[in-house]
Amino acid sequence: MPRTKVVPIPVMGRHHVNAYLLLGRRPVVVDAGTPGSGRAIHDRITALGVDPTDVALIVITHGHIDHFGSAAELHRLTGAPIAGHIADLGPYRSGRVREPYLPTGPMGRAMARNRKLHARVEPFEPALLIRGETSLEDFGLAGRIMPTPGHTAGSVSVLTDDGDLVAGDLIANSFMGVIPGRPANPPFHDDPRRNLTSLRAMLALDPTTLHVGHGTPLDPARVRRWADREHDRLARREAAGRLTARSE
Ligand SMILES: [Zn+2]
Repeated sequence: MPRTKVVPIPVMGRHHVNAYLLLGRRPVVVDAGTPGSGRAIHDRITALGVDPTDVALIVITHGHIDHFGSAAELHRLTGAPIAGHIADLGPYRSGRVREPYLPTGPMGRAMARNRKLHARVEPFEPALLIRGETSLEDFGLAGRIMPTPGHTAGSVSVLTDDGDLVAGDLIANSFMGVIPGRPANPPFHDDPRRNLTSLRAMLALDPTTLHVGHGTPLDPARVRRWADREHDRLARREAAGRLTARSE
């Protein structure tokens, strides 16, 4: 079988905020960018030689508005059903993120003051409600949706049978992609420890490349080394009583 191609769709900057087009037997879109970017994503899909009305599924990785902000619009433009995890159904149905954002560091503390991240966006109802590992075979893609909770309770990744992991905000690049290829936390995690457990579970499946919401693709060996350092950092924070997580 030909390899499933993973094509980034830049939503902001060159790789500041990314959606993805997965090209298997049928096209599948992962994430839908910031509010008002549905048309740009649609036009990019067309420019890649794919008829947007052929899109089989739109997978939303989690309930942050830079990932689901244009889900409803993209659904209207393509007619494709939307998949989202049941644990982030609150944000999807209300169009609002869970407040407050829990910063992972100084950048998150600064970004949390950005009013755009607190705006209400157009809500949507996932036609495919994810509750566990879900094959994408029925949507023409050799791969699976994998629950990867922690960044938010309903975070998911898409793992293709070829080993590409489209990971949403499970991991990011330094400063949202300003330093390409260097693994780093995204600005926020609801539960940093649970996220790290999910990240390590995905690394244990030996992915070939990690494709992220913010930044360029990451090398799993480099992410493994980062995860070990992050494990130690979180242990120190916890020992100091400075590790916060959102309770469910
Ligand atoms: Zn996020």
